[in-house]
Amino acid sequence: MYLKSLEIFGFKSFADRIRIEFSKGISALVGPNGCGKSNIVDSIKWVVGEQSAKSLRAETMEDVIFNGTETRRPLSVAEVAITISNDEGVLPLDVPEIEVKRRIYRSGENEYFINSKPARLKEIRELFWDTGIGKSAYSVMEQGRIDPVSYTHLRAHETVLDLVCRLLLEKKKKKRKPVVQVEGFKKKTT
Ligand code: ATP
Repeated sequence: MYLKSLEIFGFKSFADRIRIEFSKGISALVGPNGCGKSNIVDSIKWVVGEQSAKSLRAETMEDVIFNGTETRRPLSVAEVAITISNDEGVLPLDVPEIEVKRRIYRSGENEYFINSKPARLKEIRELFWDTGIGKSAYSVMEQGRIDPVSYTHLRAHETVLDLVCRLLLEKKKKKRKPVVQVEGFKKKTT
């Protein structure tokens, strides 16, 4: 499973539609300060369901819509789509390629699509469940979260690793939950 492409229209500084194709392996986005590199990271977090405007460096969610410049009028809609290769069937849909799209209007209304079919946020979350993609899963790490790992001393590394391990533990706990519930039910009824 890997990210094949990203299409952005009207999201933050991207007033024109852009499409980025990623190949297998490492891809790097290079550009001067303020050219929109972090906006690209934000767009990936957003399309997979991010609900916190603050985490996208915005005041409100509608702020992610292109706000205009001296020479361009603001847009009324923002749209981001990612295409993920599902060759190995990691994602629970029986198709080799999955496109997830999110749209937001100035009214605050959000729309989600999976392979062009309208979907609910819950379905997007379920699609990526257990893959490490999504909120707080450490598959998308912005600048501020990478710094403690790359620059600081061992203690900070331990903190990050500890967080990741705890997340994994939580995941395992969640998986075990139904068994515990059944046992609890049995106890109550016997
Ligand atoms: P850095 O190197 O500092 O991380 P960057 O290349 O990652 O910078 P971003 O922070 O992604 O750049 O982009 C910042 C630019 O995006 C700023 O010029 C800002 O005005 C613009 N921007 C952010 N939100 C919007 C919006 N809603 N409409 C128009 N422009 C926006």
